[in-house]
Amino acid sequence: MEHVQTVVIGAGVIGLACAKALAESGREVIVLEAADIIGSETSSRNSEVIHAGIYYAKDSLKARFCVAGKEALYRYCETHGVPYRRCGKLIVATSAAEDIVLDGILEKARNNGVMDLEWISAAEAMRMEPALFCTHALLSPSTGIIDSHALMLAYQGDAESHGAMIACNSPVLGGRVEGQGISLKVGGAEPMVLLADEVVIAAGLHSQTVARSIEGVPVQTIPGQYYCKGSYFVTAARSPFHRLIYPIPAQAGLGVHVTIDLGGGLRFGPDTEWIDDLNDPNRYEVDPRRAESFYDAVRRYYPALPDDALIPGYSGIRPKLNPPGMAGDDFRIDGPQTHTVPGMIGLYGMESPGLTSSLAIADHVRGLLDQG
Ligand SMILES: Cc1cc2nc3c(=O)[nH]c(=O)nc-3n(C[C@H](O)[C@H](O)[C@H](O)COP(=O)(O)OP(=O)(O)OC[C@H]3O[C@@H](n4cnc5c(N)ncnc54)[C@H](O)[C@@H]3O)c2cc1C
Repeated sequence: MEHVQTVVIGAGVIGLACAKALAESGREVIVLEAADIIGSETSSRNSEVIHAGIYYAKDSLKARFCVAGKEALYRYCETHGVPYRRCGKLIVATSAAEDIVLDGILEKARNNGVMDLEWISAAEAMRMEPALFCTHALLSPSTGIIDSHALMLAYQGDAESHGAMIACNSPVLGGRVEGQGISLKVGGAEPMVLLADEVVIAAGLHSQTVARSIEGVPVQTIPGQYYCKGSYFVTAARSPFHRLIYPIPAQAGLGVHVTIDLGGGLRFGPDTEWIDDLNDPNRYEVDPRRAESFYDAVRRYYPALPDDALIPGYSGIRPKLNPPGMAGDDFRIDGPQTHTVPGMIGLYGMESPGLTSSLAIADHVRGLLDQG
């Protein structure tokens, strides 16, 4: 059995950020990735927005890591040449009832230390974005967009230049908590068993499955595992908007919003659709019939959206800890205090704003492992 100091399971944006932080701290790191490339799951199926930290519950991990992660991420993009744009975002109300909700959002943001939101009148917002309709808006100047793949390549480069090894086609099939570490059975082209002092489970939608496959991890400490798909539609036209446009948030997501990509393309989404079967080969297909509800949702704030403009784009799946209707999902970063396994960190429910938070999450994981 080969020995390695630290294994990170999963090479998504969070696994790679952890690998970078842990390699930079002087550890010997191997990243085990089931797929044949990095970042092929949720990390390449999202809105690519650098979130400001507005919506999350006070003192939640999401609020903490999003606000700290955003600043770290902007600095990192600057120093590492990762394409990004601090384009700003408008959160728009489209009725008097929604105007009141904006008040609550402003307060939530302030509770989280996001102090730069500005009230914007309807006239001002519609002057800034002539294609927009709204009754009031909040401007978030620190929201931006990022090239998530370039970010992952930069994390990978940093990790590798500090000695980390990224092993693709290396699915973790199971493991066991041993007296002197955690053994991991690795499949793929070159099956092996590794004994690791430290294991970070950053397997996204599969983190709970991986944790359950490791004998000796108390099952009652592993959180629930639910999936909420979000589909996007795109248009052939260039974006009439210069900023991101978000409606009042929906229950399981942030509502069907408008994002622009770094090339000026326009995309709408994601919506919410709870799914049961993560192994369905069609799980990422976008059903063209869902466009109907998009037209209704989007025309409330973009009335000139032409008929037949929406083309099915792509989809992502949110790793949820609670079933539909239950609020209160936060990131779960479980160390030995929670599950009693020395050297193991489990990352669960790493949905939005996980991309924005990736550097702050990685710092936190390193801190937990340093504590022993
Ligand atoms: C629809 C949607 C929109 C989003 N929009 C945003 C946004 O705009 N801004 C933002 O900040 N965040 C956003 N997010 C959240 C963000 O995308 C995620 O938090 C982030 O990508 C999660 O990264 P990860 O590394 O945890 O998971 P993943 O990217 O899913 O990576 C996990 C990796 O683990 C691998 N793996 C799984 N099982 C095993 C195994 N047994 N052995 C080895 N490897 C394994 C997988 O192949 C995968 O590569 C969004 C999420 C969704 C779903």
